[in-house]
Amino acid sequence: MARRRQIYEGKAKVLFEGPEPGTLVQYFKDDATAFNNKKKGTITGKGVLNNRISEYLMLRLQEIGISTHFVRRLNMREQLVREVEIVPIEVVVRNVAAGSLSQRFNIPEGTPLPRSVVEYYYKNDELNDPLVSEEHITAFGWATIQEIDEILNLSLRVNDFMSGLFLGIGIRLVDFKIEFGRLYHDSGDVQLVLADELSPDNCRLWDMKTNEKMDKDRFRRDLGNVEEAYQEVARRLGILPEGGPRDMKGPSTMQ
Ligand code: UDP
Repeated sequence: MARRRQIYEGKAKVLFEGPEPGTLVQYFKDDATAFNNKKKGTITGKGVLNNRISEYLMLRLQEIGISTHFVRRLNMREQLVREVEIVPIEVVVRNVAAGSLSQRFNIPEGTPLPRSVVEYYYKNDELNDPLVSEEHITAFGWATIQEIDEILNLSLRVNDFMSGLFLGIGIRLVDFKIEFGRLYHDSGDVQLVLADELSPDNCRLWDMKTNEKMDKDRFRRDLGNVEEAYQEVARRLGILPEGGPRDMKGPSTMQ
């Protein structure tokens, strides 16, 4: 059988042509990068866990009426998704000060924010994903005013829902990054849907009791026990792969 056509290779994922037109296969790697590729490494089993965690969160969001690109999980490291045109904006929603916000405004990490803060970054590695305003987004045509309104509404709904979901398993959702895509229907309608992934790679998750970090900051800041932290998130969500960590590396089904 011919090797599947690779459409795109990112830092943590690979996209292949899907089995039907309008679909893609999203493959989750164990590779981890930080600081715009300056730090590179591998987190064993991360791809398997992120595939599950992202599946779980996308399905729960679909249940409350938020459309996503997710169709179904295919195997340990792959999921079938709808092909979308990615809006070149990274949306960050913050509930608690951390990371770049803490640095920019000199606010100690862990300070609760008076309200959820939404930020937009232009997706461009060469420019280091600069922070941009709605004005830049609409003036440069990255999204329309209507799209950015919808993106803001959807992002706040995702935040409210995920904050509650994680609260229920003793985890504080400090902040997260999401991306949206345009789904072109045969009817000519264009629908904005949640795309990319939702995982500890792009969320800050802190244990409610100990404030211990359970996300990619463990890798970024060399805190150790990175695999264990991702596993613990999956365990609390009730989706640790059967057989536990031993199952984690699994056979890769790439052809
Ligand atoms: N984030 C991400 N990809 C990026 C930048 C940020 O997924 O390219 C996530 C990050 O994991 C965190 C949130 O967005 O949950 C806010 O990140 P921040 O702006 O504080 O940047 P950082 O301190 O990670 O550089």
